[in-house]
Amino acid sequence: MIEFRGVSKYYGDFRALDNLSFTVEEGKVCVLIGPSGCGKSTTLRLINRMIEPSSGEILVDGRNVRTVRSEKLRRGVGYVIQNVGLLPHMTVEQNVSIVPRLLGWDDRKMKDRSDELLDLVGLAPDQYRSKYPHQLSGGEAQRIGVARALAANPPILLMDEPFGAVDPLNRETLQGEFTSIQRKLKKTVIFVTHDLDEAIRVADTVVLMQSGRIVQHDTPERLLAQPKNQFARDFVGSDRALKRLSRFIVHDYMHAPSMLRARERLSSSEIADRMKQRYFWVVDENGFLRGWTDLKESLPDEEVRGYMTQIKPMEVGITEFASMRDALSRMMGQGIKEVPVLDSKWRLVGAVTLHDVEAITEQGDLAQ
Ligand code: ADP
Repeated sequence: MIEFRGVSKYYGDFRALDNLSFTVEEGKVCVLIGPSGCGKSTTLRLINRMIEPSSGEILVDGRNVRTVRSEKLRRGVGYVIQNVGLLPHMTVEQNVSIVPRLLGWDDRKMKDRSDELLDLVGLAPDQYRSKYPHQLSGGEAQRIGVARALAANPPILLMDEPFGAVDPLNRETLQGEFTSIQRKLKKTVIFVTHDLDEAIRVADTVVLMQSGRIVQHDTPERLLAQPKNQFARDFVGSDRALKRLSRFIVHDYMHAPSMLRARERLSSSEIADRMKQRYFWVVDENGFLRGWTDLKESLPDEEVRGYMTQIKPMEVGITEFASMRDALSRMMGQGIKEVPVLDSKWRLVGAVTLHDVEAITEQGDLAQ
């Protein structure tokens, strides 16, 4: 648990933080959000003592961080920043192993841990462990940054605009992956962002800040449903019902797709079942999405092609880590009521429909 008690920070006469008090429960993600200069990074950096408060105290598991030696403190706190800061002349494995090496782990244990973490962040160890940072894409480098922060299994993670430098599509994937990793690891996380969609997606609680003060500390749902004052209302904007969709992950809503597999032989009862469907996604023998058709029966591969509308899976499909808001944008962008869900190799694994989106928005009390 992390607790801020009446923390202020001055730079000369300028008050960057003004009497901040809030608590982050163990295993939860707290997102600090607000306009540039409102004090988010300053708050974060106080926790691992990169800077010291002018007054007030910060407690980690009941202990004032001032009483803990900074090296010891930083070992228990993983830190992820925007441009990752991977060391250019070290391999991925060496970068991930920086803290374990400082802790004197033996080579075997470091290698096993590095492989385990690469797996966790979705990068095949055999392919990535010997690469150098310049051989990585922005999204890959960011994943290594997360792996490195987790290396010594710290209970606390500080993330300062961790996905800020990544393009929007990769950013959505990284947010989804982070959420799924956090479901497994349950770290206590403080996450800084100025992107409200990102906050709503990853947060258990959100601290909305303005000029070094807390405007509202709440769950994302309550921040959206009941913004406390005009500043909060302006900040969350007018499309709150749609923003709330960012909290729901496609994985939790997808169902089996209506699918026609090339060369598949169907029984007459299966064909009868298919008569009820309006259309099918067509996949090839390997399960890759190729297009859609309104044919009701299976046909040999060559003929299906003649009756099929080809699609570009990357433009129409979505991953299971995406949010239901992403799914809705895909529906509106492509003019479709059902979005195919693809795995990382573009194989069709499920589908979500406009109906699923409506079911979520109807649950909420956000009708405006
Ligand atoms: P945010 O992360 O919300 O953009 P920061 O926490 O980085 O904001 O900064 C809060 C305020 O404190 C800003 O006005 C910034 O200019 C000021 N500030 C931050 N660091 C220093 C410093 N070392 N010296 C003087 N002012 C600073």
